[in-house]
Amino acid sequence: MPLRETEAIVLRTYRLGEADKIASLFTRQLGRLRAVAAGALRSKVRFGSTLEPLSYIHLWLYERENRDLLRMNSAELLESFFEMQKDYRVQVAAQYVSEVTERFLPEREVNERAFRLVLAVLRALKRSREINRPLLFCNYWLLRLGGFLPDLEHCAACGRALGENPGFYGPGSEGLLCADCRTATASLTLSAKTAATVHAACQSSLDRWLAAEKAPPGCREARRFFEELIATHVDKKLVTRGLLADEV
Ligand SMILES: [Zn+2]
Repeated sequence: MPLRETEAIVLRTYRLGEADKIASLFTRQLGRLRAVAAGALRSKVRFGSTLEPLSYIHLWLYERENRDLLRMNSAELLESFFEMQKDYRVQVAAQYVSEVTERFLPEREVNERAFRLVLAVLRALKRSREINRPLLFCNYWLLRLGGFLPDLEHCAACGRALGENPGFYGPGSEGLLCADCRTATASLTLSAKTAATVHAACQSSLDRWLAAEKAPPGCREARRFFEELIATHVDKKLVTRGLLADEV
């Protein structure tokens, strides 16, 4: 059983029998995977706070031949994102990041840029306690890195330039539609100005965007649109999306 070493973000954990936990992890060196933390329910000593949701950890794990699940050997906490989750809005946003990472990124595919993105988004949530810009940035870049970011300036159906006109979208949308192409379900709009602002802001770092005094108008509206695009590309309903809509 080879011992592997990697950095990871704990996406979530769940029980396995009476004594063990399974951790869903996004690792820097091995991609997204699941690993057993043997005895984690019985004793807190071995894994300590490393298994709290969204902990950024350094870990050592055993890869087992012909088994999906790896086995956690030991872990060290690098950075905790636990405190910030006492603020319910931030907690919901953090859970959204974890759920989207788990659903959107394929298993065992190394993705250094996505790893750095998720870490940057968590740090921005922790520092700013703002929801809209960090989540927008997260959605924008996950879509872009996955090759799913649509052209925000043209209609996804006829290809005509949207210009100053708003784009329409609805459940299952993969892009924006012009007024002529909009379908009955495409009842939501994204203004051309907001689309352009978000696109421009996301070319720079999230830190720089947050350093600008406050979120530009339309951030929430844009966040909803990008959430819809993400939802189109995952196979299960995103549970945290409903919580976000209620709270944030
Ligand atoms: Zn059109």
